[in-house]
Amino acid sequence: MAILEVSQLRQHFYLNPGILARMLSGKRTGVIKAVDGVNFQMEPGEILGLAGESGCGKSTLSLAVAKLREPTSGAILYKGKDLSEMNRAELKDYRRQVQLIFQDPYESLNPRFTVFDLVAEPLRALDMGDRHEIRERVIRTLELVGIRPDEYLERYPHQMSGGERQRVGIAQAMVLEPELVIADEPLSMLDVSIRAGILDLIRDLSERLHFSCIYISHDLSILSNISDRLMIMYLGRIMELGKSRDVISDPLHPYAQALISAVPIPDPAYRRPTPKIHGEVSQPIDPPPGCRFQNRCLEVMDVCKKDEPELKEIKDGHFGACHLYSSTKST
Ligand code: SF4
Repeated sequence: MAILEVSQLRQHFYLNPGILARMLSGKRTGVIKAVDGVNFQMEPGEILGLAGESGCGKSTLSLAVAKLREPTSGAILYKGKDLSEMNRAELKDYRRQVQLIFQDPYESLNPRFTVFDLVAEPLRALDMGDRHEIRERVIRTLELVGIRPDEYLERYPHQMSGGERQRVGIAQAMVLEPELVIADEPLSMLDVSIRAGILDLIRDLSERLHFSCIYISHDLSILSNISDRLMIMYLGRIMELGKSRDVISDPLHPYAQALISAVPIPDPAYRRPTPKIHGEVSQPIDPPPGCRFQNRCLEVMDVCKKDEPELKEIKDGHFGACHLYSSTKST
């Protein structure tokens, strides 16, 4: 059974300029369609890479999955159970089983807490064990993420490096033994020299502890390294979804092709192909009918301006939302 099933998920934000401003400007209320009809599933133990430019909806989607924001419509099923139908006890359990690793280890850790208190806090909040059990569990988890308890247990966040702080942030998520982890750009605030170590740690933990992971990044070289499958979003919609190696080696959607052609290659002799794309990212406010990528696509056709392409299976397990392909199977 899929651990997570997201269907027709929408997260819209309504822009209301107020009565006076509306009367003066004549503007009507707009809608930001941050997530607009997203469907996907995740298998237990899978790492799903979620890519796209800023504003594509990847973080909004993750907040809805973590139940930190109520979606406008659609359904999120966790092990077959709809989140909107969970009772209080089931929701409490869901909040334990789904944990986040944050982008900024400088902001996400309370500066007045020691490492011990930071990692013990989720256990205390959920009343998981007595003092002795909590201490044991904190020590075990710190060892798991490569932090020496004897040296760091009483330290404060300002007494650690960025990489050590991110390891403590990961320990906060791991101490609850989650089944689904959402890692929202966990490397973006770290020095390049320590990114590989944190990436290896997350991959190693997912294998040892068998949790599923939604790994969000705009960096496709990182995602191709860690993810089993890749999902590429643009203006609130999924443009492409498939096994990482298939998406990277044979991208189908013009947007995915442009993103992948922009991945840095450490070879000065390499001649980068010109990305088949033009213009800037559009805003997700009241998008026009048809394909959301039409203004930037060099292969745009008449049908693209009228009909929004559905996400369909184009090759085995490889999905794309583009009128250049015809297929019968959709997600
Ligand atoms: Fe380009 Fe049309 Fe495909 Fe959209 S549907 S990506 S506009 S070809």
